[in-house]
Amino acid sequence: MSFVTGLRCRECGRRYPAEALHVCDFCFGPLEVDYDYEAMAASLSREKIAEGPRTIWRYRDLLPVDDATPVDLGAGFTPLVRADRLAAELGLGELWIKDDTANPTGSFKDRVVSVALTKARQLGFKVAACASTGNLANSVAAHAARAGLASIVLIPEDLEEAKVTMTAVYGGTVVAVQGSYDDVNRLCAELASEHPSWAFVNVNLRTYYAEGSKTLAFEVAEQLGWRAPDHVVVPIASGSQLTKVAKGFAELATVGLIEPATPRISGAQAAGCAPVATAFATGADAIAPVKPRTIAKSLSIGNPADGWYALETIRRSGGSCAAVTDDEVLEGIRLLARTEGIFAETAGGVTIATLAKLAAAGQIRSDERVVALVTGHGLKTVEALSGTVGPTASIPPTISAFDAAVGEGPDTGGLA
Ligand SMILES: *Cc1c(COP(=O)(O)O)cnc(C)c1O
Ligand SMILES: [Zn+2]
Repeated sequence: MSFVTGLRCRECGRRYPAEALHVCDFCFGPLEVDYDYEAMAASLSREKIAEGPRTIWRYRDLLPVDDATPVDLGAGFTPLVRADRLAAELGLGELWIKDDTANPTGSFKDRVVSVALTKARQLGFKVAACASTGNLANSVAAHAARAGLASIVLIPEDLEEAKVTMTAVYGGTVVAVQGSYDDVNRLCAELASEHPSWAFVNVNLRTYYAEGSKTLAFEVAEQLGWRAPDHVVVPIASGSQLTKVAKGFAELATVGLIEPATPRISGAQAAGCAPVATAFATGADAIAPVKPRTIAKSLSIGNPADGWYALETIRRSGGSCAAVTDDEVLEGIRLLARTEGIFAETAGGVTIATLAKLAAAGQIRSDERVVALVTGHGLKTVEALSGTVGPTASIPPTISAFDAAVGEGPDTGGLA
């Protein structure tokens, strides 16, 4: 049994049943899942969670689904890694990386898709669909295959090769659309009203989909010994993840699993697609849409559906928001790989470069316990690095050629 009491409009508060609905009929505001937190608190305990699976489903009581057998490839419970070498480079103190490259299809999207398709199956849908900047496509195609659902995935045609292959291999329908993600998204909204029997995870199932991002906050808190960090750096595409990370920490306090805390939440964007960072910098009270131009394709949403709510969440928490150039993104990828052994995709480069920028500006402080969300695997976007990394030397197979090219090699600390 789930603790969902229904859906509620974020703007006017009107209530709806827990069905495949995502906007309010009266004011077009987005719908939000409501829970009976008192009953949830009575059922939950740290011990009960600890006995659960090592996936997002250990937090089942805090999620909007009551299926005993979720659509599950093992998303979540990814490593939270103490990053002392990176912290030293950036002049920070206690720094942690939430390594969501370790998810089944290599990105944080497995969290939201596992929740959305579990709900979709429960509601009787037979077809899973989405508009995607790449990672969502991978995850929907994979989870649909796992659940025995058909899938229809729409992507912009200029996507990274690995993301296209990683979607098509699961055997669903993949349609490359000549246009930007915002064009793909518009088309999907039209398709969703024409095909109400398709579960578009980020359109008609979006209310449930979005709840999956809360598990990032749940895991971080549990992995830190049931406490919230002081500061979290979150990449922004639609802005959904950022708002839900804040909601996740708030819920843990509401049900008594952690002490009440309001971690500062800071947003990370690429300069070539920075509608939220721009609004933050100018103090605007609306998000002006942009035309994306950046190597961080997974974050390339020029008109972010939850952009305004993300901005509000950042401001309310006392966080910050910044944008970084594509060169800084590449340097962020290399810096994380070289200091901590984690290979992130371009979105991870955006997070690390923004972390560096905010640390240099004094907006992230060395006395804070900081968590940076690294949300996708580097093998998905290898072409972004082409020409910037490669072999140290290329030689014929002889000792003399090796010695000539590499010399004594790295310092061995006195050992032969
Ligand atoms: C989709 C995505 C995000 C951001 O998600 P939103 O909830 O749309 O803001 C971050 N990182 C990666 C790798 C993604 O694929
Ligand atoms: Zn409303």
